Amino acid sequence: MLNIVLFGPPGAGKGTQSQKIIEKYKLQYLATGDMLRAAIREQSPIGVEAQKYIDKGQLVPDEMVINLIARELDNHHDVHGFVFDGFPRTTVQAKKLDEMLDAKKAPITIMLALEVDYNELLARLLNRGKMSDRSDDQDEGIIRGRLDIYNKTTLPVMDYYKAQGKYRGVNGMGAIDEVFERICQVIDSCR
Ligand code: AMP
Repeated sequence: MLNIVLFGPPGAGKGTQSQKIIEKYKLQYLATGDMLRAAIREQSPIGVEAQKYIDKGQLVPDEMVINLIARELDNHHDVHGFVFDGFPRTTVQAKKLDEMLDAKKAPITIMLALEVDYNELLARLLNRGKMSDRSDDQDEGIIRGRLDIYNKTTLPVMDYYKAQGKYRGVNGMGAIDEVFERICQVIDSCR
């Protein structure tokens, strides 16, 4: 199995690049942000709870996203592998993911970290806010808050994978296809 954690701050291009990766390598896409937004649209109990955090730009509790991922891992057998987008975002989540994948004897292959300058991230997110109705992209204060949370809470996840020798940094600046080319080179070198 080819299991990829696609890592990077909000606005780094994880969603865009994930779509290209799953198409080329025939992998299953698992994005906790998408799952949570779907739950909010349905106004399910999880969605109602998650919305309180998402609207403020805060992370939802670990247990909530861990349960969502556990359910999806159980739902998808016979796949070539997974692309995790937006998960794990804390070291608690990263450890739990390792436990779940160990049980399936299909560990994470690599963590691809998209690297993009702060000002470029801010510009991309403000622009995305104009084009979509994502509640958390509408306000510059909330966007800056999410980037702060990334730096404080999510960046340590990088060290977690570095310690396992699985971290690969990829320059996420430039055209979508250029970035994808860089990603493919890294994936192909790991297979
Ligand atoms: P995303 O679409 O990945 O940017 O996620 C949107 C929002 O959903 C985040 O700002 C968080 O509030 C929440 N979220 C998504 N994934 C996670 C996660 N792994 N841990 C905690 N909160 C998450």
